Amino acid sequence: MALAPYPWLEDAARTLAEMRVRLPNAVLVYGPPGIGLYELAFAFAQSLLCENPKPDGEACGECSACALMKAGTHPDCRQVLSEFMCAEHEVPYVAAENERPDAKKRLSREIRIHQIRALADFLGMNANRGGRRVVVVYPADAVRAEAASALLKSMEEPPEGLVYVLACENIDAVLPTIRSRSRLLRVPMPPKETALDYLRGLGVPEPERALALAGGAPLEAACGAAGLRLDPEMEKRVLELLARGGRLTPDDIVRGAAPDLSVPAFALLLSRWTNDLVRAKLGAHPLYFIHEGRALEGLAAATTTAKLFAFLDAVRGVRRAEDHPLNVRLVWEQILLKYAALFAAPRRG
Ligand SMILES: [Zn+2]
Repeated sequence: MALAPYPWLEDAARTLAEMRVRLPNAVLVYGPPGIGLYELAFAFAQSLLCENPKPDGEACGECSACALMKAGTHPDCRQVLSEFMCAEHEVPYVAAENERPDAKKRLSREIRIHQIRALADFLGMNANRGGRRVVVVYPADAVRAEAASALLKSMEEPPEGLVYVLACENIDAVLPTIRSRSRLLRVPMPPKETALDYLRGLGVPEPERALALAGGAPLEAACGAAGLRLDPEMEKRVLELLARGGRLTPDDIVRGAAPDLSVPAFALLLSRWTNDLVRAKLGAHPLYFIHEGRALEGLAAATTTAKLFAFLDAVRGVRRAEDHPLNVRLVWEQILLKYAALFAAPRRG
C-alpha cells in the first residue's frame, strides 16, 4: 500500500515520511471522517516496520514485514481499534474475558479498558524483528475515560523503539495529556476536484451530488450516501458467500437470505466486490477489500472481464431500482445465482 492510500492524503503522507528522521514517540493524525485516516495511520505503521522502505517513505509491499502487516500478524504491531472498527477494517477483535460472543449484540464503538490492558504484554516484550514496534489506536477520540488514563500511563514511559500512531476525527475529545504527548498532524478535507476525480474514477453516478451529500468526504460519498453499509455481521456473511465463487450452491444462497437485508447496501457491496474482481483481473490491487487480494485473484482467474462487466450491469440494475419496493428474497437469489454463474461455465477468451 502506498504511504498515501488516497490521492488527497499525499501532503499528510509526506509530512509523516519526514517525521521518520527524528521519530516522535506518538503521532496523532486527525481530520474529518470519511477521508481515510485509519488507512493513513495503518500505511504509516506499515512503512515504519517495512524492511526496505522507498525513498519517499512508502512501504515496499514485498518484504516479509509488509507481508506480515498485510496478513495482520506482524508481531511488532498492535492495532487497538473499537470492536466496530475492527469489523469495518477486518482487524481481529479480542473480547474481554467475561464477554460472551453474541451475534445479535451491537458492536462497541469505544475502545475499552481491557483492550488497553491487553497491550501491557506487548509493551513488556522486546521487538521481534529489527527493533521498532508500533501501536495503532483508532479512533483515538473513542477511548473510554478509564482506558484513556491507562493508555496515557503507557505513553508516558514508552519502551525503547515503540511508536504510537493514533488517528481520530474529533481532536477535542482526546485527553489533553495524550494530545500533548503526541506530534499532531491535521489532515484537511480534500480539495473538491481531487475528490471528484476519485469518485469519477470509481464510476460513482452523479459524483457532485454524492460528494455534496457526504459533506465533501470522498470515501463517504463513494458509499452513495451516509449509512449505506450492511451491518458488519451481515457483511461478513455476504463476503463468505461471495468468496465461494463457483462453489456457491443454490442451497447456500437460499439459506443465506435475510429478510431484513438492506438491498441498497447489499447492491453497493456487490458492486465494490465486483470492481475489485475487475481490478484483480487487470493485475491491480483491490481498492475496497484490501485483505482479500488472494481470494479475489483466485476468483478473477476463473472468470472473464466481459462476464464481470455484464454482472456489474446487473448490479447497477438493482441499484437503480433502489427507491422501489423490491422483494428482498427475490433480489438476493437472482443476483447471487448470476454471481455464481460467473465462475461456472468453462472459460472463454
Ligand atoms: Zn516492506
